[in-house]
Amino acid sequence: MKKILVTGGAGYIGSHTVLALLEKGHEVIIVDNFSNSNPESIRRVEKISGKKVKLYTCDCCNLDEFATVFKENKLDAVIHFAGLKAVGESVSIPLKYYQNNLISTLNLLELMKQYHVYNLAFSSSATVYGEPKSVPIFEDFDLHVSNPYGRTKLMIEDILRDFSKVNPQFNIALLRYFNPIGAHASGLIGEDPNGIPNNLVPYITQVAVGKLKELGVFGNDYPTPDGTCIRDYIHVCDLAEGHVCALDKLFTNCGLVTYNLGTGNGYSVLEVLRAMEKAVGKPIPYAFKPRREGDIPACFASPEKAYKEIGFKAKYSIDDMARDAWNWQKNNPQGYAK
Ligand code: NAD
Ligand code: UDP
Repeated sequence: MKKILVTGGAGYIGSHTVLALLEKGHEVIIVDNFSNSNPESIRRVEKISGKKVKLYTCDCCNLDEFATVFKENKLDAVIHFAGLKAVGESVSIPLKYYQNNLISTLNLLELMKQYHVYNLAFSSSATVYGEPKSVPIFEDFDLHVSNPYGRTKLMIEDILRDFSKVNPQFNIALLRYFNPIGAHASGLIGEDPNGIPNNLVPYITQVAVGKLKELGVFGNDYPTPDGTCIRDYIHVCDLAEGHVCALDKLFTNCGLVTYNLGTGNGYSVLEVLRAMEKAVGKPIPYAFKPRREGDIPACFASPEKAYKEIGFKAKYSIDDMARDAWNWQKNNPQGYAK
């Protein structure tokens, strides 16, 4: 049993990962400022697991407050989810993104060093690959970013690579997520976006539940079999399991490692829509719209390195993801807010 600090643990991926850690017998401490989440997610994780989580309502950008967490707990590792993640918003308010994502991470590294906590998993993103030269995407592909959100991820990766070189006692996993969707099978925790969703699956589920009129499919003239973009959708519970595997690797004293967390399968927007229609049991209205700026035609992972080195393999299918996304939405039409 290890003591794991999870920053951003009340959020979408964080809450599912906290549950996976509790189920593995770890002790979890969450730090979250609830800028994009609701404490109800943590209560529900406690309900599902029957275990308690220690919560600090704290902004990781506030060094003094954040330090209390390290003073009061002897930690074995940190999983750092805390960050702002909306690409469009990052273009409108870039300073907020640089401020929040970079300062929180710099504070975290200072504290980890000061308190001798040497194991860190960081939430990076497939966005760091930009438009890849080919698919599937391997971890050693060139990195390019095209918006402030993506730049914060790449900058943090660069900071961690620099930091690791001069702090060899640190073990750091850069985890590049592909497209997490779905929800825990209980239907008690899931994705609860603020306002109108930017992402495909929450948009579709809100159409299906009657909150939105129709899905706009952004572009049907891409060089893909049905003309719509292809992505690597991964069940959020698989992604959570990926963190458990990555933690085990950190405890082998591995230095800095980088893994794609994806399934290796690409699905088009229309294929996802069909899977969701099957789960919901009725047609979902949609209309083709112009391409969305910054979208790339196809993006899917090579999952091989994560399989070989940390034994991670996604097990849920696109139909499982659609079923669980719908189960969450229909049981919680207003998300956690009710
Ligand atoms: P989320 O917004 O649901 O969770 C992030 C959590 O961090 C929220 O609970 C938020 O309140 C908290 N937070 C933000 N800034 C904070 C701060 N300064 N101090 C304390 N808490 C803070 O997002 P998510 O989808 O769970 O994503 C988790 C991480 O994974 C993020 O870093 C995100 O960039 C990254 N990521 C997400 C996706 C995705 O599609 N969801 C893909 C790739 C990478
Ligand atoms: N998409 C869409 N309509 C929407 C939201 C997304 O057609 O309302 C498409 C988008 O163009 C992309 C795919 O769905 O091809 C996945 O988009 P999402 O924003 O979920 O994730 P991204 O891969 O952009 O991070």
